[in-house]
Amino acid sequence: MSRKAKFSFKAQWNRFCILTHEFFERQMNNDFTKMEEFKAKLEAIDTVADRIRFLTEDAIFSTAIPQFVDSYLPKEGTQKPRDDSADYDSLSVARRFIESDYNDNNYNKQIENYTKAISTLSMDTAPNENRRELCRLLTKRAELFYILKRYDECLDDINELKKYSISNDLDFLEEMASFCEETKAKSCFRELKPKHFEVKSESKLLESGMSDMQLVYNDIKGRFIRSTKFIPRGTIIAAENPFVAWLRPNLYDSYCNYCLVKLNSRYFYCKDCFKVKYCSSECMQEALASYHSIECSMVDVLKDWAMGHMSLRMAIVAGIEEAIEMEREEKIALKEWVNKEFKNDYSCIHSLCGESCLHDAYFTASTIGALMLAILAARMNLVKENTEDFYILAALLYKHIAQVYLNTYTVYDHNLRNTGYYGVICSSEKRKKVGVSLYATSSLFSHSCDNNCYKYYSGSKIILVSLRPIAAKEEITVNYGTSLAQNTLQTRRNFLNQNFSFECRCSACEVNAECVAYALICPHCKAALVVNEDQSNYCINCNRQNVETKNLDHAMKCAKKAFECAEGFAARGQIEKARLLYKRMAHFYSIYYFSSVRLSPIYDFIAQCYAARNKFYKAYKYKVKTEAMIDESYGFESLEMVALYAECASFLEKAANLSMFRKKKWQKKANFYYEEAFKLLTQLLRADFNIIEENKVSILKQLKI
Ligand SMILES: [Zn+2]
Ligand SMILES: [Zn+2]
Ligand SMILES: [Zn+2]
Ligand SMILES: [Zn+2]
Repeated sequence: MSRKAKFSFKAQWNRFCILTHEFFERQMNNDFTKMEEFKAKLEAIDTVADRIRFLTEDAIFSTAIPQFVDSYLPKEGTQKPRDDSADYDSLSVARRFIESDYNDNNYNKQIENYTKAISTLSMDTAPNENRRELCRLLTKRAELFYILKRYDECLDDINELKKYSISNDLDFLEEMASFCEETKAKSCFRELKPKHFEVKSESKLLESGMSDMQLVYNDIKGRFIRSTKFIPRGTIIAAENPFVAWLRPNLYDSYCNYCLVKLNSRYFYCKDCFKVKYCSSECMQEALASYHSIECSMVDVLKDWAMGHMSLRMAIVAGIEEAIEMEREEKIALKEWVNKEFKNDYSCIHSLCGESCLHDAYFTASTIGALMLAILAARMNLVKENTEDFYILAALLYKHIAQVYLNTYTVYDHNLRNTGYYGVICSSEKRKKVGVSLYATSSLFSHSCDNNCYKYYSGSKIILVSLRPIAAKEEITVNYGTSLAQNTLQTRRNFLNQNFSFECRCSACEVNAECVAYALICPHCKAALVVNEDQSNYCINCNRQNVETKNLDHAMKCAKKAFECAEGFAARGQIEKARLLYKRMAHFYSIYYFSSVRLSPIYDFIAQCYAARNKFYKAYKYKVKTEAMIDESYGFESLEMVALYAECASFLEKAANLSMFRKKKWQKKANFYYEEAFKLLTQLLRADFNIIEENKVSILKQLKI
């Protein structure tokens, strides 16, 4: 496997499945019949706990599984023992960190040392002397941030200091804080934290969800959520913290292990394992209290077990004994949840769909995986091996594997920031996958390929926002990773079947709605030739299948070539040559793609070329052609559309200023676009949540209300 593939999100997340699957294959000597036989034997046993018991009594697995787990554990003596002795003095540890570079002029190095020292000290429940030292260090670091004009971090340190309120120099700090606030208010983008996102009024029954919705049940769909009254576009439907979250192993250094927020240089880290970092002392305390004090000595093993780690962490967060107790109790029927309070606690998480969903390829490997996790739990002294509790815990872990597999969402770093323009938020175009989270309420939203809500993330907090107006009693839906706008019918079906084991019955799939956004032109009838992910194709008009597309592929090659050359010319400032090549590219695209929407980015390039040469009317002409694409990608009711109108208006205005004869006509047209932009903007700004892509913010800001 290449280095890149090994560190891909998918490879990291599926690590545990692959690990357990390969282990099983090895034990069966890769003999397919033997594997099938074993699976059949396992399937014949009724309960998960009994299947696990069967494994522990099996001639091969009873020794191979514990051996496998033990091979992962830190070797005796290699681990630095946790030092609990009284003379272990965090103050002296902290001093060591700062003394090393105390007089260095290298500010960043100093900040790093302060950070280490502060982490060490703030883990202590603190004799007074340490507290004073901690305040001194925080003040010093705040000053450094201030000098470096990093006001966000400076303010965070000052707020941290206020918690201790024993600082000698409160006036000075207040002054520094107010300066930071003022400067921040003037700056272009302001960082938004998870706590900035809340629903306007919270539902009484569904924690973290808005009040205008309810949980309903029917026998076909099970539980789902619908609106109780009309919900406008851009409403925050839910803003929920996860029950558990998992951070990608390769991001342990750069993201908070608890809330999955990107770290700045004032992070905190665990002074026992030195392996996990947190964005704040609150996150550190929360993590320690809910799972890290138990996981601390096993971080390396757990980190490698990804999905398995998350399954075990669910039990740790719930409390092992409480979880086992709950598994013993009788379960509440799903339809009874309609009148119950649904909260972000283990009893609600426990009710999410479970073990019956794991079948085929995942069945045997997950059973083995559950036993491995239970043995690991025993090694961590969470349960006694081979007791009744042990088997219940193993069965529970099996259920967790299924829940993690089916109910979690991938967390993206949307990098949400406040633009300072009427509360409009912006996000980066590039969105990194940072981890996986399991939510209570948000797990109850069903998938639709034509979903009416979109998921954003601030750290691991999920923010569900309505994409369009939702009628009363309409089901509220999200997208599990495949959509009508992006994927063909066959691709959607395969994806949902493979990843979530269900057949989609959403409004789009019910009528076999096809996605033609990426369709080619059928050589026989010129209608849309839909291409699936597996490269098979069919024409939606003449129904021909797997049509030969050689001629079309040639057009695509020419388009690509033209694009490369155009980029080269543009980079060297030869704008007119670049423009001609972009036009060629547009020509080849129109031979290749059925949907003219694909042409839009090229029209954008051409408009830029014209604008660079002061040919503003022509620039406008091309810009306005991208309206259909904006409508398709973001919808008419979007800030992107406002930005488009604003840009058209601005091109027309510039054209009018340069023209002798068409001045009036073009100015009038410009005014028309300004009016349209304002009309749409004022309508949109009524929503709770308005978002625009980062690169369009400057255009939007030209509109002064
Ligand atoms: Zn955090
Ligand atoms: Zn630790
Ligand atoms: Zn569907
Ligand atoms: Zn055709």
